[in-house]
Amino acid sequence: MTSRSNQRKRVLSGMRSTGKLHLGNFVGALDNWVRMQDQYDCFFFVADWHALTTDYADTSRIKENSMEVLLDWLAAGLDPERCTMFIQSHVPQHAELHLLFSMITPLGWLERVPTYKEQRENIAEKDLSTYGFLGYPVLQAADILIYKGDFVPVGEDQVPHVELTREIARRFNMFYTRKGMYVFPEPQPLLTPAAKLPGTDGRKMSKSYGNTILLTDPEPVVRQKLKTMVTDPARVRRTDPGNPDVCPVGDLHKVFSTPETMAKVYEGCRSASIGCIECKGWAADSILREIEPIRERRAHYEAQPQLVTEILAAGAQRARHFAEATMVEVRAAIGL
Ligand code: SF4
Repeated sequence: MTSRSNQRKRVLSGMRSTGKLHLGNFVGALDNWVRMQDQYDCFFFVADWHALTTDYADTSRIKENSMEVLLDWLAAGLDPERCTMFIQSHVPQHAELHLLFSMITPLGWLERVPTYKEQRENIAEKDLSTYGFLGYPVLQAADILIYKGDFVPVGEDQVPHVELTREIARRFNMFYTRKGMYVFPEPQPLLTPAAKLPGTDGRKMSKSYGNTILLTDPEPVVRQKLKTMVTDPARVRRTDPGNPDVCPVGDLHKVFSTPETMAKVYEGCRSASIGCIECKGWAADSILREIEPIRERRAHYEAQPQLVTEILAAGAQRARHFAEATMVEVRAAIGL
């Protein structure tokens, strides 16, 4: 069995190239990645091929969107000296492994992936009856296994995807070995505490709902978005008491505000001694405190496009080095 027990464990994760990131991306993944950099050997990639599985018909912004994601990563504190960052399509070995995995992956495994049916039904405006869309979990397995990742940071709902990657690794190892050894370790999900982050309409913050607050939003925009945010419906009049536990603004406070502010929110909301406008102002203050340093770092990188290009090139080179080493083993194990 492959082992790197005397080294730092390797973590693999990616984000689709969807353009500028929002607070939900930050709280749900990025903030956690920043903390993991010193603990693990981290590989983070912008998944532009994955974006193609749903957005193949319009690729006009795909490059720009990848760069926006990368800039937000750097801005949030991912450090090219402490982790490997790259764009998926810059490492073509992912595609080769995807092809080989697709030879051994039974169709039934893909058809039963919960998000497959769900997304095909929910994204009605796009024709997702394609080979690429059905096979995206195979690409995901290639993304992870090509670096022999030990851990994949995921929320509860993503665990079945990691399980599928493990099944593909097992099936490959069953068919092919190299000098009697398994080529692929089975990665484990690294469960990340997913803070509940609502968007301005109270639903989960998501680009497709148009309810996001971006990491790049300037102060007046953040304040304006907060002003339009839905609140506890019990507070119809200023004198009606409310409950921050059933209010989306309360959820934002829980993530971004200090215990002192939280105490003021609970007391003021329940006794109706504060109005929602005032409460939303405090939430905006807390969010801005978090994103201002991020915006400053982003400006630093935006002013140096050459530096960003170099970071990307170095990341892709390091990733290719490991990916190719795995592919040498894979080709030999299959007998190609
Ligand atoms: S006071 Fe704050 S927590 Fe209470 S309902 Fe208004 S916005 Fe929500």
